[in-house]
Amino acid sequence: MGLRENIAKVRAGIDAAAVKAGRDPASVTLLAATKTQSSDTIRAAIQAGITVCGENRVQELTAHLDDDAYEGARLHFIGHLQTNKVKYVVGRVDLIHSVSSEKLLRAVSAQADKLGIVQDILLEINLAGEESKSGFPPEEARNAAQLAGKLGGVRLKGLMCIPPAAVRPGDNLPYFQKMRQLAVDITREMVDNNIDMDVLSMGMSGDYQDAVAAGSTCIRVGSALFGPRPPMSPRKD
Ligand SMILES: *Cc1c(COP(=O)(O)O)cnc(C)c1O
Repeated sequence: MGLRENIAKVRAGIDAAAVKAGRDPASVTLLAATKTQSSDTIRAAIQAGITVCGENRVQELTAHLDDDAYEGARLHFIGHLQTNKVKYVVGRVDLIHSVSSEKLLRAVSAQADKLGIVQDILLEINLAGEESKSGFPPEEARNAAQLAGKLGGVRLKGLMCIPPAAVRPGDNLPYFQKMRQLAVDITREMVDNNIDMDVLSMGMSGDYQDAVAAGSTCIRVGSALFGPRPPMSPRKD
C-alpha cells in the first residue's frame, strides 16, 4: 500500500505549502481520515508516524476503540453527528470537529456536564451554503461561538469546513480564505470571552495545499494516504 511513502508525500506537500506561505510547517497537523479502514490499517498508520486519527462514524469509532486501534495517537471525530449519538463520542475523543447546529452544541455540552468534563470542539461552517452538507451558515457562526462560550461543557477551539470538491488546484482557495477571515473576526470579537480559537480544520486530499496557503492548522486526509475508498454503506448512525 505504501502507507509510509504516502504519509511522507503528503507531509512534504504540507511543509512546502507552509514554507511558501511563510508559515511554520509545524503549525499544521496532518490528521488521517480513517473512515472505512480496518483496525490493522489504523495501527499501521500510527506506526508509520500518524499522530491524529479522525473518525467519521459512531459505529466505526466504537468498533476501533474496542480494538484499541487508535493506541498511540490522538483521536478526533470529524463526521456528521446526531444528537442521540453524542454519548458515544463525548469524552471519548480529544476534539469534535463537526458541531454543526445549536441543538448539537447544546447536546454535546450537556453530555460533557453529565460526565464532569469539558469537551473540546470546533464549529462546522457550511461556507458554500450547500444543502447536502451540515454546518452553521457563516453569518450564524458568531452567535454559535457566543453560545459555546457560555456553555460550561464545551471549549471552543476553532472552526472546520468541508468546501465543495475541488476540480482544479486553486478552486477552493477563496473558501479557505473566507474561513480564515471568519475565524479572525470571531476571535477578535470574543476577546473577553476566554475563548482561544487556534484551530482551523480545512483541506482534504484534493486541496490541502490551498488550505495550508490560506492558514489551515489541520489537514484531514484520507485517500491520499490510504488509497481510494470503497463506497460507504448507507449511513446507519
Ligand atoms: C473523508 C473525509 C476527509 C478525507 O477525505 P479525502 O478526500 O479522502 O482526503 C476529510 N474530512 C472529512 C470530514 C471526511 O469525511
